[in-house]
Amino acid sequence: MTTPARPSRLAQRLRELPPYLFARIDELKREALGRGADLIDLGIGDPDLPTPRHIIDALQSAAAEPRHHRYPSYQGMAELRSAAAAYYAGRWGVKLDPSREVLVLIGSKEGIAHFPIAFVDPGDLVLVPDPAYPVYAVGTTFCGGRVHKVPLRRENGFLPDLAAIPTEVAREAKIIWTNYPNNPTAATATIDFYRDLVAWAREHDVIVASDNAYADVYFDEAAPPPSILSVPGATDVAIEFYSLSKTYNMTGWRTAFACGNGDLVRGLGQVKTNVDSGVFEAVQRAAIAALSGDQTCVADMRKVYRERRDVLCGGLARAGYDVLTPEATFYTLVATPRGVTSMEFAARLLSEAHIVGTPATGFGACGEGFVRLTLCAPAERLAEAVARMARLSV
Ligand SMILES: *Cc1c(COP(=O)(O)O)cnc(C)c1O
Repeated sequence: MTTPARPSRLAQRLRELPPYLFARIDELKREALGRGADLIDLGIGDPDLPTPRHIIDALQSAAAEPRHHRYPSYQGMAELRSAAAAYYAGRWGVKLDPSREVLVLIGSKEGIAHFPIAFVDPGDLVLVPDPAYPVYAVGTTFCGGRVHKVPLRRENGFLPDLAAIPTEVAREAKIIWTNYPNNPTAATATIDFYRDLVAWAREHDVIVASDNAYADVYFDEAAPPPSILSVPGATDVAIEFYSLSKTYNMTGWRTAFACGNGDLVRGLGQVKTNVDSGVFEAVQRAAIAALSGDQTCVADMRKVYRERRDVLCGGLARAGYDVLTPEATFYTLVATPRGVTSMEFAARLLSEAHIVGTPATGFGACGEGFVRLTLCAPAERLAEAVARMARLSV
């Protein structure tokens, strides 16, 4: 991050951004690299596996077709919206009207950041989990909205305690953000939780914005994570963000979609019509190939992460660590030793074991007591990380 020469010219909304918490970790990482250390980077949630071949092939042939070189339509290609609807029908039995209830996004981060522009006026209240992906709060702040943090605690399975949200807060709230399977905690939600959330949102007239980026990164083939949209009545109150980034190792491709309530989808679409011109159609063709093609590649990806999870979490548990073995996502939380903060523990991992982890406080104050490690490295490297952490005296 660069320091602006004249910070006084910055708009208030940028000056209000939370402080950048990873400066110390970044510095320790630079130092270690400078010394030639063999770093194991388990910091960033970005798949190291390649995009499956048939998806790349679809991009390559579509890229050569002149009809795809022009401006795409704002809401995304009809075939992609249909493929998205078919995906939801097949995966969750959710019926979506592709013409009104699906919108193509330039990655879900884009949609998540822009969504509040459509629905949050200055001073409006938005409920954001803590810890959470930072974009939920930032999007609200950029609109002059107020963020109310809803704590996610280990003893509640990192699910929000809806009954503990004060009635005045619920009544005032415009949107509640939710994200399961969850980054950074790796927690999953049950359909019962979503049923309660939909009932709560209907009672208090709150929009539910569900980020389902890790819907297809799970480890029990018999228990795939649910979508909130499969709850009856959910489409009255909810919009869901589905990303191809993690399912098909396509983080660099920038492709996702929003779906659910038609008015919510239309509001977001209206914002986007005014700020962007959609996704390159060759990328949309690749997304169609991904969603409509053989899903064996996704099951294979899950198998790789499951093996890695067993190496890392099994190894750390045997070494005496309090590690939360995930059922989904490619993250795991490791509890810090007693009396050690997330930041101190991450700094020690870096300087003494040359392992990059993320202090969970980077996602909110309630992340205190945990460091997040990713499974985005080969099993041998994770085994090496276990060996190094076993030698740390904690
Ligand atoms: C990775 C991730 C996304 C996906 O972002 P894209 O912009 O679609 O790549 C969304 N939400 C969370 C919580 C994530 O970790």
